[in-house]
Amino acid sequence: MTTIHLLAPEVADAIAAGEVIERPASGVKELVENALDAEARRISVDVRGAGKISIRVSDDGGGISADDLGMAFMRHATSKVTTLADLDGIASLGFRGEALASIASVADVECTSAGARIRVRSGEVVEHGSGPLLPGVTMEVKDLFANVPARLKFLKSDATEQAAIKDAVISLALLHPHVRFQLTLDGRAAVGTTGDGDRRRVIASVHGAPVAAEMLEMVGMPLVTGMVSQPRMSRGSRDGIVFAVNGRPISSRPLLYALEECYQGRLERGRHPIAVIDIGIDPQLVDVNVHPAKREVRFREEGAVFSALQRAVRSALGGSEPYRYQSSAGTPAAASRETAPQLSLHEAATALATADRTADRVAQSVLRPIGQVGPGYLVAEGPQGLVLVDQHAAHERVLYNRLLERLRTGRGMSQPLLMPQAVDVEPRLIAAAVDRREDLANLGLEYEEFGPRSLRITAVPVEMPAGRATAAVQETLAALADNRGEGALEKAAAALACHSAVRFGDVLDTAEQRRLLVDLEAAEESVTCPHGRPTRLLLEWSDLTRHFRRNY
Ligand code: ADP
Ligand code: MG
Repeated sequence: MTTIHLLAPEVADAIAAGEVIERPASGVKELVENALDAEARRISVDVRGAGKISIRVSDDGGGISADDLGMAFMRHATSKVTTLADLDGIASLGFRGEALASIASVADVECTSAGARIRVRSGEVVEHGSGPLLPGVTMEVKDLFANVPARLKFLKSDATEQAAIKDAVISLALLHPHVRFQLTLDGRAAVGTTGDGDRRRVIASVHGAPVAAEMLEMVGMPLVTGMVSQPRMSRGSRDGIVFAVNGRPISSRPLLYALEECYQGRLERGRHPIAVIDIGIDPQLVDVNVHPAKREVRFREEGAVFSALQRAVRSALGGSEPYRYQSSAGTPAAASRETAPQLSLHEAATALATADRTADRVAQSVLRPIGQVGPGYLVAEGPQGLVLVDQHAAHERVLYNRLLERLRTGRGMSQPLLMPQAVDVEPRLIAAAVDRREDLANLGLEYEEFGPRSLRITAVPVEMPAGRATAAVQETLAALADNRGEGALEKAAAALACHSAVRFGDVLDTAEQRRLLVDLEAAEESVTCPHGRPTRLLLEWSDLTRHFRRNY
């Protein structure tokens, strides 16, 4: 039989510390959060050897009084929470009183504050006396995990651990633009922000000026603040997405899903936005005490938070601009766009989009058709410059919007087929058709059942050339059958739009070109087709001026 015994305190502490301090980056995060809680305006982080040699964080915040210095390193010692009721409305980043104790149990930590100094190694106080009288707190963590070889063994490569440290600092810097952050890795500057409160400038210092210029600000939403990238700029990964609740970075699959849903039809499959989104919420309505490293939270009214987020993102995306022709990446044109006039341009665009929609349409001058080039591009002149339009993508967007409108209003527009067309379909597609008969009718598709593997199509959307009914029906029903959830009708509409649109290669006369351009200009989300591909490309007058050296 086995015997049971209480763990020695150092073993228990190391186990508890493992939950909070998984890797050097979690140590950095906890120390920086403490500085933010102390209302620091400048935080510098200096890391050596990927955090295993040393992590030094100094701030200019409120500091720890000399008398409290010893207490700060004890487990469950905190200045942020007192009663059980306090746990219901946590406004600070920290609240467990575990971070300093955890770090000190697995490293050699020296802390100076308010003219005092303490040194704690593997959980034991080894020095405690006077120190320099400086503002704020300086924490120096050395030999992290030296006394827990098992943990050391599980760390990733130095490059990976450094990247995680950088990400942790970047997230907090993006969320706190009023704080000046400085991170150096082995003496080299890795992150540097000014702390002037301008989030676009923080994004510029983190992701570069061209990225910052493409971010749309979410304005006028009390609950959700931040910036999201417009569709013409995207990434192949989700690494550029930062979510936070009251300034606390969190990871959340549902929020990610809610965000990406807003980009459906604006980004191609496999592309992801860049975003910094902070959800400001009454601390009573969110439980932050659900994850040891405080990485996850639980909302009391999750649905309300998601829809607020989606409203804010969609309204910001209303200010999306068309894809722009650029001869090469990183041209002076791109760099110059971070200057102030560009900011007002973005704001103007956002304001426009949220303004009255009729006014919006009047304000946009219509594109003047010049002709058709190549297999299927329209050339047009617009107020900002020369515009190239992919005629199929553009028409797809126009028809798609129209179909969605018919779904919304329940008023389908179909043309009866003179000769009903029999279409072979798999039984599961017939089932999908039967389930959605009314929606299909609103989309303009009507049918009769015609045996177990066949439908007789009696009407198609008014815009659809009759000869395309077979492929359109098969694809539309497949979209319904494959997408059980919410997006199914949109996918079906996209399939119908695709089959009804003019093809790339069709010849369009001037009247048809003009109509398409007018419709495109009036359409919402007209920057991309329903599959997220661009509908048009803008070659700006200013770029032409620069190219032909007509600016002086
Ligand atoms: P928590 O942040 O959950 O309270 P910590 O172990 O991280 O617990 O810190 C313990 C206490 O030490 C904090 O409550 C705070 O009072 C104090 N403290 C830690 N770091 C700082 C700092 N940089 N500036 C001021 N006070 C700090
Ligand atoms: Mg803390």
